[in-house]
Amino acid sequence: MATNKTRKSLLLIMLVVLLTGAGIWFVAQQRSVSGIRHVVLISLDTTRADYLSCYGYGRPTTPNIDALAKQGYLFNHTITPIPLTLPAHTSMLTGTIPPHHGRHENKDPYFDPSLVTLAALLKTKGYSTGAFVGSQILNGSFGLNRGFDIYGDQFADEDQSERRAGEVNRAAFEWLEKQKRKPVFLFLHYYDPHDAYEPPEPFATTFKENLYAGEIAYTDHCIGKVIAKLKSLGMYESSLIIVTGDHGEMLGEHGEAGHMYFIYQSAVKVPLIYKLPGSSGPQRIEDIAGIIDIVPTVCDLLDIEPPTGIQGKNLAPYFSNTPPQSEDRHIYCESLYPTKYEANTLLSLVSNRWKYIQTTRPELYDLQKDPGEQTNLVKTQPQRARILKDRLAQILEKTVRQKKPHEETPLDAETLKHLHSLGYLTGNSVKEDFSFDQDKEDPKDLIGFHEEFRKVSRMLGQDELVDVRALGDHLIKQRPGFYGSYSLLIGIALKQKDYENAILFGKKALELKPDSFKTHNTLGLAYFQSKQDEAAARHFKLALELMPNDQTVPPDERMQIHNQLGLSYSRQKKFDLAIVQFEESLKFDGKQPAIMNALAQALLTCRNPALKNPSRALELARQACELTQSKHPEYLGTLAVAYATVNNLSEAARISEKALVLAQAKGDKALIAKQQKQLYLIKKALAGLK
Ligand SMILES: [Zn+2]
Repeated sequence: MATNKTRKSLLLIMLVVLLTGAGIWFVAQQRSVSGIRHVVLISLDTTRADYLSCYGYGRPTTPNIDALAKQGYLFNHTITPIPLTLPAHTSMLTGTIPPHHGRHENKDPYFDPSLVTLAALLKTKGYSTGAFVGSQILNGSFGLNRGFDIYGDQFADEDQSERRAGEVNRAAFEWLEKQKRKPVFLFLHYYDPHDAYEPPEPFATTFKENLYAGEIAYTDHCIGKVIAKLKSLGMYESSLIIVTGDHGEMLGEHGEAGHMYFIYQSAVKVPLIYKLPGSSGPQRIEDIAGIIDIVPTVCDLLDIEPPTGIQGKNLAPYFSNTPPQSEDRHIYCESLYPTKYEANTLLSLVSNRWKYIQTTRPELYDLQKDPGEQTNLVKTQPQRARILKDRLAQILEKTVRQKKPHEETPLDAETLKHLHSLGYLTGNSVKEDFSFDQDKEDPKDLIGFHEEFRKVSRMLGQDELVDVRALGDHLIKQRPGFYGSYSLLIGIALKQKDYENAILFGKKALELKPDSFKTHNTLGLAYFQSKQDEAAARHFKLALELMPNDQTVPPDERMQIHNQLGLSYSRQKKFDLAIVQFEESLKFDGKQPAIMNALAQALLTCRNPALKNPSRALELARQACELTQSKHPEYLGTLAVAYATVNNLSEAARISEKALVLAQAKGDKALIAKQQKQLYLIKKALAGLK
């Protein structure tokens, strides 16, 4: 294999051949020293290592991965640096830990331009690079598409936030079949084991007592299809296949249902299997490893210079006949998630045997004797805890880099929508602060609150009616000073059209954060819906004033607030003010029929002769009708009034009749009455002319 010694001798041979003029470079590019031509990296989302049968699970969940492990190398103790999908994959694909790459949560759009991805490295070496992901959390706009020729994040249905492994395979196979000449780097991401646990049949029945295991079994089944595909394309024998995961799942341990909050082993211990060309195994390696090791290991196996400054370690020496001596390695992992609730961070170092977690009440575990992390040894082994704490501080000192907030790229509306539907955009952001504050609350004390907050967050995405007041009272009682609860509750109340409670929670939220433009906006909406237009306008105006003037606010959001402010002015008959707002709004997108219609109405109704503009109103109303294929009774009604105002009464009558028919078809009583009255007036005027 590519140990230093073999590489040196190979280089010598290459030099000799180069001098004699033979084309050895071409050969080197086709197949590496280790016989590898293709690289397949498979990432299993939310898969804790101990649920794979090759890692000791009691039932045969993963026969296909087991078969790979039998011919390859299984790293029995592999750690992810963070139990969250996007930052963990950022680590996996760059070989760096979160303090270095700067991404600590799923929605974070910032991806340091200086980070080199595995795909980018392989692409420069002539590989065809393809990624196919199972969830929009890994949407290409987050930057992990860097270096990929194709990045499969387009799902069959554009509203789909996730897709099954079978669908990922279908897209991947279609691409794979077209790759004929070049070596291939294929990255597959399967999201199925993530909650909700709903495996398809027969896995739902076979694993009915543990559907999470069933999802893993289904995913393994799909990996079996990948192996079969590689074999049928003649690629299997020359492929390096790596199976790993981004994080585990707590499944109720230590009080956490899913993942993201704690960094106990169930959340951070993931599978890692390397299957090299030919059969090398089974080899089981007990030394600690990380998913950050994938980049330098692949680089070594393919004789590529790894990026400088990464934290991952080359594991290729384990694949040689004389594996390296076990060393005293410590792997970093973190959860900054509790900072969302203003609690302390959880920062950890894990070694073969020991695990130290720095937080308000620090923790030390002997993983060999106590794999479930039940007995905290901090008090009985203070010396060891201190050494690990110091070591953690050294690692942070070496790796923490300053983010440049002005370089943050905004997310597009589509990505934001997906993140919303996946429940990732509620509450505060995490705080990237690695200085340790002993006075902050211990995250362990807030796990109950976190679980309840998550449960309530999910309600935002459901249509089920809930007693938002009771829910709120319970949540707020636990943490009265926590702003995130209020903003979440306003969202639920608004969705349920419970404007009274939305206003109540909105006012309380503003007591905690008077400068929050988002709260002013939602409070404005609640007032507007309950027909308190003056209050609505006041809050929309404040929202616009307080909104940061940078790219962190999507243009759509600005457009809507201007529009809402215009509508609240219109209802107060302050048309001159309304016109200004609608005009502002249309600057973001000039083809919004609802806003065009509202502006047309204001231009027709305005009493200020300097602003009244029937001909512009007519043009806007005409366009609004065109954009909606003349199927919108209200827009047609506005168009009819515009024609009447410019004295084209016969056209006004014709369109008004059409508007009435459409209103009747809709069965909207208020709209019918409005159109009837309008038609009557137009006809009366028309009769007066004759
Ligand atoms: Zn994940």
